[in-house]
Amino acid sequence: MVSLSDIKKFLRGTILLDESLSKYTWMRVGGAADYYVEPADRNDLVEIAKYFQQNGFPVLILGRGSNILVSDEGIRGAVINLETALSSVRMGGDCVIAEAGVWLQKFVDFCIQHDLSGVEMLAGIPGTIGGAVVMNAGAHGGEISAHLVEVEILRGCEIMRISKKDAEFSYRHSAFESDVVLSATFQLPKGDREDLAKRRRELILKRNETQPLELPNSGSMFKNPANTFAAKLIEQAGLKGKRIGNAQISEKHANFIVNLGAAKATEIIQLLELTRRTVYQNSGIQLELEVKLYGFQQKMIGQVS
Ligand SMILES: Cc1cc2nc3c(=O)[nH]c(=O)nc-3n(C[C@H](O)[C@H](O)[C@H](O)COP(=O)(O)OP(=O)(O)OC[C@H]3O[C@@H](n4cnc5c(N)ncnc54)[C@H](O)[C@@H]3O)c2cc1C
Repeated sequence: MVSLSDIKKFLRGTILLDESLSKYTWMRVGGAADYYVEPADRNDLVEIAKYFQQNGFPVLILGRGSNILVSDEGIRGAVINLETALSSVRMGGDCVIAEAGVWLQKFVDFCIQHDLSGVEMLAGIPGTIGGAVVMNAGAHGGEISAHLVEVEILRGCEIMRISKKDAEFSYRHSAFESDVVLSATFQLPKGDREDLAKRRRELILKRNETQPLELPNSGSMFKNPANTFAAKLIEQAGLKGKRIGNAQISEKHANFIVNLGAAKATEIIQLLELTRRTVYQNSGIQLELEVKLYGFQQKMIGQVS
């Protein structure tokens, strides 16, 4: 059994009860978490994560919430945001060591400043190192795992280092979905600072042109099936612009759902279900979710995942 008074005896960071998650998710959707925790530093994070683990209390580790959809009912358990606790990026010999809460933009800036290439295409992804490693985030033909050496994690109550070969990286997948990622170590090829900065700028401009960044969203909702694009299939199924309540399949990019204002998670789930069904009827292809769902009852999401 977890208890607030026990937690307050050792936690140095912040703990909030019934904290709405809509302000922490990129989609700006989601009910409250029973406990919302921002540990003060790495030791604080490890202590609180171990405490929940030892008490069998469910935990969701939150990055920037740019690849998750939280139900309107919220999360029974704890949500841990580690942006404050794990926010450093530094050189360690010829490697870059980035803690899990570091925003990808900051990581890419750091690498470019050190004339290191191979991650500049990640600059427009609004996530953290932890979220990107867990998701094996990628863009423009590159993935975060490409130049990764090892990942430091908390698995159960043990801190360990997992080398890339044991990390099971594949398209938007890693072996870390039940762990707490603490940091990641990269060995990057040398590059020309100005060329890298130019490429980063071009890729960000391209995103601005092709993605509905002016409205809250969760990026691509579905993974791209082999040899095709989910956005193309959704557009061919005639769903671009389709709206349920305040959730809409973007006019700009059909694999994005945008929140037009106070959208409900249930409306987004209904759109996902409609998309999956209609694309299957139209093309025979079953789309697979990329966005991760939290706090939903199985009967509600059975049709989408
Ligand atoms: C506008 C937009 C554009 C996007 N473009 C791309 C793109 O081009 N390519 C791409 O791959 N993705 C893209 N995404 C999706 C998303 O940004 C990435 O998946 C990103 O890496 C998620 O990082 P996050 O920190 O926000 O993770 P979250 O969304 O907070 O979490 C994602 C998952 O990772 C887990 N997690 C997060 N941090 C940790 C940790 N430290 N330890 C253990 N588990 C953790 C969470 O529990 C959850 O399961 C885009 C999203 C948006 C909104």
